[in-house]
Amino acid sequence: MQFRKIMENPMRTCGGNIVVTIVILIVLVAARAGVAAERYAGPMIDAHGHLGASFDWDMIRKVMGRNNISRQIVMARYYPGPAGDADRPGNDELAVELAGKYPGRFFPLVGMQRPELTGANKWLNPDAAVEAILNEVEAKLATGHFRGIGEVIVKHFAYSSGRHAELENPIYSPFMQRLSQIAARFNVPIVLHMEGAPHLVNDFARLLRENSRVRYVWAHNCGRSKAPVIRAMLENHPNLYCDLASMTNVGKSGYGIGWPRMEEYSSLIEKNGVLFPEMREVYEAFPDRFMIGMDVAHARGMNPKNYGRRARRFRELLGQLTPQTAAAFAERNTMRIFKLKR
Ligand SMILES: [Zn+2]
Repeated sequence: MQFRKIMENPMRTCGGNIVVTIVILIVLVAARAGVAAERYAGPMIDAHGHLGASFDWDMIRKVMGRNNISRQIVMARYYPGPAGDADRPGNDELAVELAGKYPGRFFPLVGMQRPELTGANKWLNPDAAVEAILNEVEAKLATGHFRGIGEVIVKHFAYSSGRHAELENPIYSPFMQRLSQIAARFNVPIVLHMEGAPHLVNDFARLLRENSRVRYVWAHNCGRSKAPVIRAMLENHPNLYCDLASMTNVGKSGYGIGWPRMEEYSSLIEKNGVLFPEMREVYEAFPDRFMIGMDVAHARGMNPKNYGRRARRFRELLGQLTPQTAAAFAERNTMRIFKLKR
């Protein structure tokens, strides 16, 4: 008996260990499967895309297809790219051509990354070149080929050399007032890039109040602002929306990694694929106000690796929101704000 007991005990212990190990493995596998299943799996709209003359259209289509991106908002980049000949500037005609070639997939905005708008004086006292742009905006919107205006560059941190790299323009200015009046007349949104410097945020609040019929899309998680600033601006201004363009914390460039620099007022939204709790709370408090976007502004960035990792990270982040909020961020809000049809 004694002998049997000695023999049985190690057997039982061993068997118990196996059972415990199997249970742990099942729990781990289930947990991993759970995370994977929670990843947002539906179609998404890239609400913040750009176009230059060096972009390869087949590549754009390929990366969208691979990542289940149903549509893209396209903003022509008139600035020359840092890569020179390999990254030539685009224009609105090119964006309309792209949209025409693939109906229902690409929706151009009237492009505002224009060399003629560099210099605060241009915004305060529009010269002939700026007047010409304002007239162009009206004429282009009248064609019905454009869903909005953007990306208007208000405050931009340099990531290359050149005149149009580091910019600070007055958002509360005659130029922005005129643009806002045009947007109101055509009932289209304005997308703008403005790092959230406090004095500009205050000026933006005035513009929002005075143009309450205009929908403004403040790119890059509301200028990479901190959660309390975003919350206050969204609460005070029902006509304010934000996109999360390039806010994924992946790769070696992009606003979501703090590139090209951050200031004291700047914030990221996530780390290692996990949303910061204060940002998640803002998103759930304002489920109708945010959109996602890949923000590939240069030809060399339009490749499966770069586009894919941003899209996959967005799926992980959306998976941390309620299914309703995730679906709104992925597609529904963009459809509504830019008046896209199914
Ligand atoms: Zn931007």
